[in-house]
Amino acid sequence: MNNKFHSFLHQQILLMLGLSLIPGLGYIFLGWLHDVITPALIWYGLVLSSSIWGFRLYKSFLNDTMTRNELEQWYQHLRWFFYTIFSLWTLIFVLYSGETTSKLHYIAIFTQLGASVVASTLLYSDKKLYIPIILILMVPLTIYFAGIQEWYGYILCLFAYIFMGVLLYSATSSNKLLVKTYYQATHDQLTDLYNRNQFIDDLQITINRLKSSGGFSYLLLIDLDHFKIINDSLGHDIGDELLIEVSNRMKKHITKEHTLARLGGDEFIIIGPEYADKTECQQVAQVFSEKLLKKIKASYVIPPHHLYISASIGLNVLNDKDIKVNTFVKEADIAMYEAKSAGRDGVIIFNDDFSKHIEQQLEVERLLHFALEKNEIELKFQPQQDQSSAIIGCEVLVRWNNKKLGTVSPVEFIPIAEQSGVIINLGQYILEESFKILFEWEKKGIILKQFSINISMRQIFHHSFVDDVKKICNKYINHSLCSKIVFELTETIVAQDIKKLITIMNELKELGIKFSMDDFGTGYSSLSYITQLPIDELKIDRSFVSNLHANEQNKAMVSSILNLANTFNLSIVAEGVETSDQMEFLVKNNCNILQGYYFSKPISSDEFEVLYLQKHPS
Ligand code: C2E
Ligand code: CA
Ligand code: CA
Repeated sequence: MNNKFHSFLHQQILLMLGLSLIPGLGYIFLGWLHDVITPALIWYGLVLSSSIWGFRLYKSFLNDTMTRNELEQWYQHLRWFFYTIFSLWTLIFVLYSGETTSKLHYIAIFTQLGASVVASTLLYSDKKLYIPIILILMVPLTIYFAGIQEWYGYILCLFAYIFMGVLLYSATSSNKLLVKTYYQATHDQLTDLYNRNQFIDDLQITINRLKSSGGFSYLLLIDLDHFKIINDSLGHDIGDELLIEVSNRMKKHITKEHTLARLGGDEFIIIGPEYADKTECQQVAQVFSEKLLKKIKASYVIPPHHLYISASIGLNVLNDKDIKVNTFVKEADIAMYEAKSAGRDGVIIFNDDFSKHIEQQLEVERLLHFALEKNEIELKFQPQQDQSSAIIGCEVLVRWNNKKLGTVSPVEFIPIAEQSGVIINLGQYILEESFKILFEWEKKGIILKQFSINISMRQIFHHSFVDDVKKICNKYINHSLCSKIVFELTETIVAQDIKKLITIMNELKELGIKFSMDDFGTGYSSLSYITQLPIDELKIDRSFVSNLHANEQNKAMVSSILNLANTFNLSIVAEGVETSDQMEFLVKNNCNILQGYYFSKPISSDEFEVLYLQKHPS
């Protein structure tokens, strides 16, 4: 049962008061005409006092701030009010039909019929009201007809039964329709949880209540981790079943005081109960959400699969702050994204620093849009050398020099460029500039074996990527230069859509382009990828190289990667080489290409030319 039901009934109170008090006066007049004035006055007195009761109920209804319990209590009172006021009509019926004047009988009968129609039309939203009330009104009438003990009396009795049946039937069918449409408008079809609309209404009520009480509550925004992968790889049916299972577990975890809704997709939201103290509220919420997370994470059996899923939860404490409902949700959303970027599978509480961080990001995003036209993008080149210290290649690394922000690291702006879509133009620019440089270097006698360029996810999956690469290959370089190009991919790309990726890679390979798996060893399924993807090179992640001498495990890790590369006939680059010890170890273990500050930082193309020509005087 819900507020809208209650407010519908609430509106019927005044109508009912009018329908009782005004015709009631007529009954006093009749009573006076036919000498039953005293009982009529007593009766009207009862109607009057019930009406006062009804009016107070009408007044005490505060749709926007009542808690569920308060609403429930109010509804109980309302029910008794309606029972009483309709019973009073039966009372006057009994009174007048006992009189000898037949005129009074006609009027009493009509009133009873009228009241039944009123009950079945005004109260059809609630079975607990209209069924007993129609019975209270109609059963005495049927008894009255039967009591005439004449043939026409029995016929009237039968008619009265039919009439009662019709009223009950029509009220019930309207009721069913109402309940169904109402349910559909407020619930999510798949999980039977409340939907977004209903949730927003409930949240608005909670916030209004907090404003008047000064208390606290909380909001949990729950987003399943990597749900898309399950949906895409196992199909939507399995995805749907998983969502149902997850929501069932959540239903079991919450209490009557919580509101649980599905916002759409794999996003759920919970409104907590009210607390007087903020710290208590936050602590309870944290414990509650951690337990919830644990329940969500227990494995699922959806034949024939055993599935495992975690979730990222954003927690926001609600208070009496004068802000919009959507702002509270947005803040929980921000916290949820923080949880995602902190590695998922966790709970993060919103704080104002997050919004500042987001504002900064938006500023970066805004400025990044103009970076290309303002010529703020610069390319650096980090040499790669072989075991004999000859420079055999380089990796192109992008730099952004902005007046306001200074030099921004690609670690910071590449993800923003990805999110905002700027990466498409930016990536295209990097490719074109790189190809131009490669061509110029060849002319100047700087002959490299390979030339590596980082490619990001959105860029490679962009529909025109392959065509764009073909075009700029034709425009700036020839086939022999093309076969020097290496595209570096990371595992996040591979995790997207491996089949599509393989197709794209194969098309590019026709141009002669090679592929390198960047940051190798950091992802969790690197091994399975190298057997599936047409790659040519592995890049051992910097973290393994820089910690080579920290423990034996890292050494073992690096030598296993080197062996692996050997087995699969892949060339291998160690990046982030900073010391001679690291270099020695790598050389001893047959790592063929080395890159790192020990040899050179990323440098400008001019500097690169100088360095190369120094090392390789023609
Ligand atoms: P990455 O592809 O793993 O690049 C290697 C990073 O390690 C570079 O940082 C490089 O400057 C740094 N590095 C190289 N040798 C050493 C060393 O000996 N010690 C230390 N401490 N660091 C070393 P950078 O240039 O800041 O790039 C960071 C990341 O940004 C790159 O990681 C890559 O993922 C991304 N990135 C850079 N340029 C591009 C680009 O043109 N396109 C795309 N999509 N991503 C790029
Ligand atoms: Ca790289
Ligand atoms: Ca790397």
